[in-house]
Amino acid sequence: MTKQNKAFKFRLLPNKKQEVLLAKTFGCVRFVYNKMLAERKETYEKFKDDKETLKKQKFPTPAKYKDEFPFLKEVDSLALANAQMNLQKAYKNFFEGNTEFPKFKNRKAKQSYTTNLVNENIELKDGHIKLPKLKLVKIKQHREIPADYKLKSCTISRTKSGKYYVSVLTEYEKEIQSKKIENVVGLDFAMAELYVSSENEKANYPRYYRVMSEKLAEAQRILSKRRKGSARWNKQRLVVAKLHEKVANQRMNFLHHKSKELASNFDAVVIEDLNMKGMSQALHFGKSVHDNGWGMFTTFLAYKLKEQGKQLVKIDRWFPSTKKCSCCDAEKKMFISERAYQCSCGFVADRDYNSAINIKNEGIRLLALV
Ligand SMILES: [Zn+2]
Repeated sequence: MTKQNKAFKFRLLPNKKQEVLLAKTFGCVRFVYNKMLAERKETYEKFKDDKETLKKQKFPTPAKYKDEFPFLKEVDSLALANAQMNLQKAYKNFFEGNTEFPKFKNRKAKQSYTTNLVNENIELKDGHIKLPKLKLVKIKQHREIPADYKLKSCTISRTKSGKYYVSVLTEYEKEIQSKKIENVVGLDFAMAELYVSSENEKANYPRYYRVMSEKLAEAQRILSKRRKGSARWNKQRLVVAKLHEKVANQRMNFLHHKSKELASNFDAVVIEDLNMKGMSQALHFGKSVHDNGWGMFTTFLAYKLKEQGKQLVKIDRWFPSTKKCSCCDAEKKMFISERAYQCSCGFVADRDYNSAINIKNEGIRLLALV
């Protein structure tokens, strides 16, 4: 038996009083996060030349601010504890050299907080969810959570257009038998599409998604011309926020759909282990790489395969998938501008398709070693 996690997301419909408390909680979480970060930053500056001493410095906790700032006592203390956990994680990532120093959260940051299940403080009943400090909040529960799924934590968020959601994280046990690997597919990450597969399938974003993205860009252009803070600016800001949410939802649905399709058609999916952040910085692609949704897509793919005892194989990102001929294994230099792979052995194929086949073959080689 292995433990699995599943999240259920519901629309949250707080009353006026609850909305006020939610706003306070979002604010307090941000406040505490920034306080702790400021303190950690100071400690870091002081000891950064002496890593051993730095490591021994205690991390600030939310509790120490409660006397000085009594309003912190009004909100869910677990939410504040999670803010600390998040900061510690972000700091650890930085300390290990993976990311930049954590940044302060400003008013524009995502409004959300996470709370955990402790002694029945969270319960779902009759179209409501019981949450710490908030008591019963109305939800639109479009599906039941199976009785044997244990609640772990809840993340409450507010979108820019003012909608509230609660994402309920659950844990359940499931017997998963690993599937015999017969059908394997390789995916080459592509900039314009999402990927090109070793079956020569291009996963293109659907037309409606591109239409909506253009609408969003147009709405943002209009917003930039309005005077900041004016009534017309505020109205347009809401238009932009709503379109933004729509586009994000469409993209997520598409990524779910594509990953589900792959996970049901194949026993193993092979991808390159791309470091997206490093890659977008190195190649100056800026936002487009993140917008492409590759990270989200591979996350979906990983758990959808795992649920069925199937595998996601990540190959080394230095593997020469682009340079190799998928027919005779010869290697040659490929310029970014070359759209086709032409080998002296006579093999000709689309550049990304050739890469995808190489990725697939490398995955098969790795799977055979296991
Ligand atoms: Zn060749």
